[in-house]
Amino acid sequence: MGRAFKTVILGGGVAAGYAALEFVKHGINHGELCIISEEPVAPYERPALSKGCLLPEDAATLPAFHTCIGTGAERQTPKWYKEHGIELVLNTRIKSADLRMKTLLSAAGETISYKTLIIATGARVLRLEEFGVAGADAKNICYLRDWNDSRKLVDIMAECRGGRAVVIGGGYIGMETAAALVANRVKVTMVFPEQHCMARLFTPEIAAFYEEYYKKRGVEFIKGTVMSSFESDAEKKITAIVLKDNRQIKADMVVVGIGIRANVGLFEGQLILEKGGIKVNGKMQTSNPSVYAVGDVVAFPLKLYGDVRRLEHVDHARKSAAHAVEAIMSPEKVQDYDYLPFFYSRVFTLSWQFYGDNVGKCVLFGNPEVQKFGAFWVDKGILMGAFLEGGNKDEYLRLGTLARLRPPVKDIEMLAKEGLAYPFFP
Ligand code: FAD
Ligand code: NDP
Repeated sequence: MGRAFKTVILGGGVAAGYAALEFVKHGINHGELCIISEEPVAPYERPALSKGCLLPEDAATLPAFHTCIGTGAERQTPKWYKEHGIELVLNTRIKSADLRMKTLLSAAGETISYKTLIIATGARVLRLEEFGVAGADAKNICYLRDWNDSRKLVDIMAECRGGRAVVIGGGYIGMETAAALVANRVKVTMVFPEQHCMARLFTPEIAAFYEEYYKKRGVEFIKGTVMSSFESDAEKKITAIVLKDNRQIKADMVVVGIGIRANVGLFEGQLILEKGGIKVNGKMQTSNPSVYAVGDVVAFPLKLYGDVRRLEHVDHARKSAAHAVEAIMSPEKVQDYDYLPFFYSRVFTLSWQFYGDNVGKCVLFGNPEVQKFGAFWVDKGILMGAFLEGGNKDEYLRLGTLARLRPPVKDIEMLAKEGLAYPFFP
């Protein structure tokens, strides 16, 4: 038994939703395009899972945040896919792919064939079991990657109001869920191995501002160590976590955000991989010309810096997806993908954006006391990266422009004093 499509998008996340919109803009015939997703819902704006979905009141829920509302475009409900003749195959896990035969095999035994494949399988969370932590299959452990994880987290968080949570990991998931737990009246202890939060992007000075802000809201930080095991009750519920130095911290629930791995498993041995992702060229085309890849799963040439990177952020998922469709539909017109890295986060009433590359010397500016400050990264006299907390629309726009144009910076002291008002282009 099998079905055949001109184009199949494997994965039904952010990139899939934006690719579908781009196909519709270019004009496709009914029945040509199929999206296959393991999830039970149509593509949605994944960032909402750690923000709007976790609000204590008027929390966001589907269908409110299907793609592509994140960029102000249409909200693509299942009805939208139907109206545009796009086959949405949900609740379907692909268990193997044969790129020579151009077929995908579902866990239920169905074969789906394609002429062009777009891989948009995103990433999976790293689980504590993979680090040999005993008791990590407890009922009250939450991860956060997909819609089902988010439902579980919302339910457990509601049960734990007035109680205590341990958040493991000091990255994006750790910081955003800790803020949400506090808003839901759950007391939080964060545990992570580094000396400060968001270690891959923040300098110690930037991190200190956020950690101080969290501490004022009751969050405790245990840094520079990891947990070794859990204490659980007869119902397989965690009651405490045990640190490497045998200290115990009571917990009614645990949230884990210790990073992700790109979902490349189906294609190992069939496509060239690099940096843990599927290697693509500037057209998002893999080492097999009929196969494209987009979003979290790709290692792509970052033209601006002349190297290959894998980025795990929504802006790249959206833009790389649109770019692949452009390459498929208008090959004669498409240029190489020329991406400027852009990351952001929102916690409590705070909000920051970052553009570019955090290399070289970090120069702080502004005033953290009024929650408006920023940082520039200057490497070999060139501005490479720009960060701003509490900016407005125009300031963030300028941040992006500066990171894209990479102006020379001669006077570091003046840069620290003037911040965004520095005369970059005298
Ligand atoms: P995904 O959106 O992960 O989609 C992959 C899809 O493929 C999933 O539906 C999955 O079920 C499906 N799939 C995988 N394997 C198979 C298979 N074998 N068969 C069938 N289906 C399969 N980025 C930001 O820049 N800002 C943010 O504020 C932000 N917040 C985030 C909050 C959370 C909670 C999370 C988890 C991520 C957040 N991100 C954020 C990151 C951003 O969401 C991702 O970069 C983006 O979703 C990547 O899009 P993608 O389509 O490549 O992968
Ligand atoms: P991150 O990579 O952001 O952070 C993981 C953190 O966990 C790192 O600080 C890591 O340290 C630490 N860690 C690793 N192993 C352990 C361990 N055994 N015990 C405790 N801590 C550990 O991943 P997240 O899980 O936070 O986020 C998952 C994905 O979701 C990422 O792709 C992220 O980009 C995305 N996301 C993005 C958001 C945004 O852009 N606003 C919001 C939410 C999610 P080390 O660095 O030393 O490995």
